[in-house]
Amino acid sequence: MNKWQNTLAASIVSPEQLTRRFKVDAEPLLRVARRYPMRITPYYLSLINEPGDPIWRQCVPDVRELEDDGQQDDPLSEELLSPVPGLIHRYPDRVVWLVSAGCAVYCRFCMRKRQVGCGGGTAGNAQIKSALDYIAERQEIRDVILSGGDPLLLDDDALEAILAGLRKIPHLEIIRIGSRVPVTLPERITARLCRMLKNYHPLYVNTHFNHPLEITAESATACARLADAGIPLGNQTVLLKGVNDDPAVMKRLMQMLLKIRVKPYYIHQMDLVKGTGHFRTKVEQGLGIMESLRGHTSGMASPYYVIDLEGGKGKVPLLPDYVRRGEGENIFLFRNYRGETIEYCDVD
Ligand SMILES: *Cc1c(COP(=O)(O)O)cnc(C)c1O
Ligand code: SF4
Repeated sequence: MNKWQNTLAASIVSPEQLTRRFKVDAEPLLRVARRYPMRITPYYLSLINEPGDPIWRQCVPDVRELEDDGQQDDPLSEELLSPVPGLIHRYPDRVVWLVSAGCAVYCRFCMRKRQVGCGGGTAGNAQIKSALDYIAERQEIRDVILSGGDPLLLDDDALEAILAGLRKIPHLEIIRIGSRVPVTLPERITARLCRMLKNYHPLYVNTHFNHPLEITAESATACARLADAGIPLGNQTVLLKGVNDDPAVMKRLMQMLLKIRVKPYYIHQMDLVKGTGHFRTKVEQGLGIMESLRGHTSGMASPYYVIDLEGGKGKVPLLPDYVRRGEGENIFLFRNYRGETIEYCDVD
């Protein structure tokens, strides 16, 4: 086993293991972990300062997960939009390919809570072939997003087999990998992995930092290695109640990401997934956060705030109302970051 696989194997997987370090009643949490698995790597565990802090909330089971029964397991209809096992084809020119059902840490707010960590395993050879065939047969697919679970939990050879298969498809332009491993298991980003990934450019990695406490010497090194391999890095944050639903926290996170060469890409409104309701925030709050970024700090630090519509209707950006129609056909009223309204006359 590689070093990172040993570390992963040393993760804690039961709430009882928390009681060594923290004063908590593990009993009620056991029921939650039986339904929705728990895993916390030694590194991510070391980031917890105290029960209930932003790291804790993201990874420790919470009884509210079982109480939230009004929602669906798969509100985005990912399963209906799946032409072959593991592929989600919702948009015209790009597909998501779920290549792994495992993650280093099982996030309590995960949108794929229904399947992630639930023993779905990784794609077998037959499944890989049918996904590659599907993509190869469709000229319109120019972008493949490897997701899961976490694609970087595959070992280097398994991942390389997938990348090599994709690169044999001439019409495929870009490959993206969505991975939380830089945040939760940074030692996975080895020099060897980066040397391998470099051979499959143009390749993008979108990672998933949610809180400034996650930006450490270790996660910064992981991102630096990827960036040094010529991989543009983006970040997708989920807006989480009690974790990052605060303009100052979010602004600091976006600024710190830029310092480690990660470009904020999306802030996601929580999906309406069963078991995650206690993380949901109001859209107003997200809009307020966006207002606190735009103009107040580097434009580079402003991602898109998006909501993924139910039923697989797609992602829509949510924007504060910076533009209104004025009186008269060509008149616009623009509101700037200081709240001033400026009238603008458009060309005829
Ligand atoms: C989010 C998503 C994508 C990628 O969307 P981008 O806006 O291009 O990043 C593709 N397919 C599905 C099913 C998605 O949910
Ligand atoms: S890393 Fe991503 S896929 Fe895995 S549990 Fe967290 S949010 Fe879900």
